Amino acid sequence: MTDDLTEHLSHLRARLGSLQEDDLPVHGGRTLAYVYDSGLGAVDELAREAVAAYAGSNGLDPTAFPSLLQMENDLVAFAAGILDAPDSAVGTITSGGTESVLLAVQSARDAHPEVTSPSMVLPSTAHAAFHKAAHYFGVRAVLVPVGPDFRADPDAMAAAIDDSTVLVVASAPSYAHGVVDPVTEVAAAAAARGIRCHVDACIGGWVLPYAARLGRAVPPWTFAVEGVTSISVDLHKYAYAPKGASLLLHRTPSLRRPQYFASAAWPGYTMLNSTMQSTRSGGPVAGAWAAVHAIGDAGYERLTAEVFGAVDALVAGVADIDGVGVVVPPDSTLIALVTDETCDPFTICDEMAERDFYVQPQLSYGDQAATVHLSVSAATLPLVDDLLAALASSVEAARAAGPVRVDPGIAAYVASLDPAGIGDDEFDGLLEAAGLLGPGPGPDDAAPGTSSGLALPSRMAEVNALLDLATPALREAVLVAFLDRLQRHGERPSG
Ligand SMILES: *Cc1c(COP(=O)(O)O)cnc(C)c1O
Repeated sequence: MTDDLTEHLSHLRARLGSLQEDDLPVHGGRTLAYVYDSGLGAVDELAREAVAAYAGSNGLDPTAFPSLLQMENDLVAFAAGILDAPDSAVGTITSGGTESVLLAVQSARDAHPEVTSPSMVLPSTAHAAFHKAAHYFGVRAVLVPVGPDFRADPDAMAAAIDDSTVLVVASAPSYAHGVVDPVTEVAAAAAARGIRCHVDACIGGWVLPYAARLGRAVPPWTFAVEGVTSISVDLHKYAYAPKGASLLLHRTPSLRRPQYFASAAWPGYTMLNSTMQSTRSGGPVAGAWAAVHAIGDAGYERLTAEVFGAVDALVAGVADIDGVGVVVPPDSTLIALVTDETCDPFTICDEMAERDFYVQPQLSYGDQAATVHLSVSAATLPLVDDLLAALASSVEAARAAGPVRVDPGIAAYVASLDPAGIGDDEFDGLLEAAGLLGPGPGPDDAAPGTSSGLALPSRMAEVNALLDLATPALREAVLVAFLDRLQRHGERPSG
């Protein structure tokens, strides 16, 4: 290597590090959404080495890279064990929970080519990935309101099944409220009509089996439940694997068959895929394999005891903080907090960020108030007291700050927008009205953090409150316009 190249690479290495400075920390247990931290640094290091070592390997052809097939089958076997799967069960590694869900829906649709206008029955709390599947695959989502306990209503779901239904869904647990649906009843209703039942255990699938083993009350939801035909479980959540890995298991090979795609209708190699991706990096497969085997069954049981230790302590501690409470006692490792009228949940999120804890705002939905979401990690356990103290003082600060006032002019502007037509002009108008326009284009336009277009405030309560006033369709449209604006090179968020 020339000296010039060496110097260039070391500059880039430093730059890769400095680019990450504004990101949320992925370690340390203070980020309570998006990342899941086992707290086991050495395991993480091995998993990252595995990602790096296999980053260039291609799962497109398992005969060319038999290592990846081996690791995939090992991971499926491990999952089958904890999910009470019968010997007939099969599985596939995917890029994430959304892809697992997409494939479950696509398989259900394609198992019934005779159904001309297919639909699926979802509890209203099902993950947005199902709405994405509906959008991609033309499978109508029939939403059934959940009961007052935020769990799916099996009678109402049974009643919603009709001749067009190709799939019925339950969550273990739901992301927004952290409770497990009554899978036994939902799956029975599906089975009675000969319909597939998918359990979305993307976020609970790797902890609930261990929770049950530890003697916690976990309602049945695995393949042990008759009528459950497929389960999704994310490795990159509570298996504490690096990002980019989830599993989709089917009860039998024939249930999985429609998931496969082959095409010999061109002059190149016959394309043969089990997932939506074709070229598929070996990195996440090897990273997940390394994490799962490094932690192992006993390790997951210990981590599950830790994470539930944190969940229990947080739930107990929240009860002592005036102004906030849990929406519902959690069945799993997710906590949703609701506030009373004395404090604003979005302000609490901002105040928590000031105290170096990232918690996630959840906008109001139907008649459910806005909430604060916490995905608790094993690494959060040693920080429980700090977190509770931060929450108590955040609630106090939110009280002192008072209700978030949305400027009536901005609210009126937003309300006047047509979700179907938010173009550049409308979005510029919104930014201007909200005072979010960054410094105009200038000579240093290309310098990160100083470019034109967007100036993200460090406090998001006003923005969230504004979104909260909007209809779901308008929220989607405004946020799409926002993302579209972010993803223009040369225009980077500042602030
Ligand atoms: C996270 C999650 C998903 C989607 O998974 P991604 O990995 O983000 O694509 C689906 N369902 C539930 C319940 C989840 O928590």
